[in-house]
Amino acid sequence: MEIVAEKLQQVLTRIATACTASQRPVQSVTLLAVTKTFGAQSIRDAVAAGQHAFGENHVQEALEKMAALADLREPLQWHLIGPLQSNKTRVVAERFDWVHSVDRLKLAERLSAQRPPGLPPLQLCLQVNISGEASKSGVPPNEALALARAVAALPRLRLRGLMAIPQPVTGFEAQRVPHRALARLLGELNAAGLALDTLSIGMSADLEAAIAEGATIVRVGSAIFGARS
Ligand SMILES: *Cc1c(COP(=O)(O)O)cnc(C)c1O
Repeated sequence: MEIVAEKLQQVLTRIATACTASQRPVQSVTLLAVTKTFGAQSIRDAVAAGQHAFGENHVQEALEKMAALADLREPLQWHLIGPLQSNKTRVVAERFDWVHSVDRLKLAERLSAQRPPGLPPLQLCLQVNISGEASKSGVPPNEALALARAVAALPRLRLRGLMAIPQPVTGFEAQRVPHRALARLLGELNAAGLALDTLSIGMSADLEAAIAEGATIVRVGSAIFGARS
């Protein structure tokens, strides 16, 4: 518990330092705590330390933790950051607040049709294959504008921006390259008439480089909760 609180504080300090270095307000970056493979108790510890936004990769694992945390009074915000299959869209539309991993129109159409009208719009990011890796999910950069236009037109969703998981590299300058490419793409989409305000980039190893290039959500797991087995 103390460990999670301490490490959370260290990450918040890293975010604040990176914001200062880029002359950005600290509030312009939101920390998403990534809890995949960690149990409900880790989430309780983080909530007790003031964290409310959590990212999970697997739908089933997230649902189990939501059930285990049903007694919490604080409202938690749940973000799906892992790959989404069509047969899981209904429960995601019903239970999550954000989905960062939309990379094809069919998924967005299903989420739109299945988002319960009583809930606020589901907040979406398009995942972009920014490093051009054959095995990675994500829309190719040159198809992002067409996809963004189609998704932005769907009801009960709000397209907020772009997400990427760049190939890991070491060194601040090298880490900035894919982040800068994603930030440029966001600028191009906005110049083409979209109104996107979110760049979901930066993890434990590269959050400073991501913030230098305009990240508005950093997704941090191991730096808060420890190494995953
Ligand atoms: C696991 C994961 C993270 C967090 O990675 P860390 O290196 O543990 O901070 C962020 N984003 C996605 C999509 C992930 O799968």
